[in-house]
Amino acid sequence: MSFDLIIRGGTLPDGRVTDIAITGQTIADIAPHITADAGEVIDATGKLVSTPFVDPHFHMDATLSYGIPRINASGTLLEGIALWGELREMLTVDAVVERALQYCSLAVSKGLLAIRSHVDVTHAGLVGVQGLLEVRERVKDVIDLQLVAFPQDGWYRSAGAEANLIRALDMGVDVVGGIPHFERTMQAGADSVRAACELAADRGLMVDLHCDETDDPMSRHIETLAAETLRCGLQGRVAGSHLTSMHSMDNYYVSKLLPLIAEAGVAAIPNPLANIMLQGRMETYPKRRGMTRVPEMLAHGIPVGFGQDSMRDPWYPLGTGDMLDVAFMGLHVAQLSSPDQMRSCYEMVTTSSAAIMGLDYGLEKGRVASLIVVDAADPIEAIRTRPPRLAVVSKGRVVARNTPVQGTLATDW
Ligand SMILES: [Zn+2]
Repeated sequence: MSFDLIIRGGTLPDGRVTDIAITGQTIADIAPHITADAGEVIDATGKLVSTPFVDPHFHMDATLSYGIPRINASGTLLEGIALWGELREMLTVDAVVERALQYCSLAVSKGLLAIRSHVDVTHAGLVGVQGLLEVRERVKDVIDLQLVAFPQDGWYRSAGAEANLIRALDMGVDVVGGIPHFERTMQAGADSVRAACELAADRGLMVDLHCDETDDPMSRHIETLAAETLRCGLQGRVAGSHLTSMHSMDNYYVSKLLPLIAEAGVAAIPNPLANIMLQGRMETYPKRRGMTRVPEMLAHGIPVGFGQDSMRDPWYPLGTGDMLDVAFMGLHVAQLSSPDQMRSCYEMVTTSSAAIMGLDYGLEKGRVASLIVVDAADPIEAIRTRPPRLAVVSKGRVVARNTPVQGTLATDW
């Protein structure tokens, strides 16, 4: 028997050492010693082999636009939104496609093979939607790109946003988005959460809202999102992105809120790089961190996936497309430093985020053959050193290779 590809001797995140055989787009076998030969063999002895990196929260219509038309001087979320409003009017479909494809190439080299990107539906011409639908089609053999219809300036606050959002879904955008904390009033925010959930229930779609991305401890749209998820029967299909207000909420209130989120099966998507950069900007000292309560969520069984959110755009000047950077920052800010917690950070940029996006990733016979070979012994070393992805396999095909970093020293001690 012959396979197309065998990855030999890799160490899985749980510590098992195994061979993985691939035929076509599928994992044909996974066992300690597969004796059959293959068209290609990759020696992964001593290396970490895992499912690919997954970014459950990104803005691909804005990426790589840093400095156009100017930079964000205050560094706040609100100036970022205003700056994006200027840039949005200058966008063309071609420019969106070009930057997005440039980003996708970088992502693949980092082993990032699934991305949920919000796409702004505020522009009357839906330029971003047109661009990213084209990109989704062009990269589909390599990257699972899921698009969220995102009314950046508010579902109700921005004239025509609701109609545009529905138009974007009709064009093929996958997920219903929203931004309740940016509506004019708390009530309008709650109304937008209700509208998003009802629309998703009607159409059989998922929901992912920018939810409570603020330092305001009274921003409590996550409560409404969880309640509406239960009312509309959307358990397992809803995510709240950011949830930074929870950092500042009253502890007694949170003790009631966390079980509600767990009961509703609502996932949380914190974005450590963006959250630590954008939140707490009105503070002197001591300064709040502005990231949501990740360890407490994990303890309640709430699904958590870390997102990247931004890279070189109106909100975030840096970024590498490397989900290990995201895990590294998340680990620090949420103080997830025990060995089990550090391993959970790796899961939050791989398997947990894949589950939130509804993807069929897993290193098991019969699953899709998407995996990465990382130049590290285990997930903790991967987060510690953030090393090259030696091989990236998407749907059975090797789509990127990198060489180990090697330097030359001239010391004489
Ligand atoms: Zn976002």
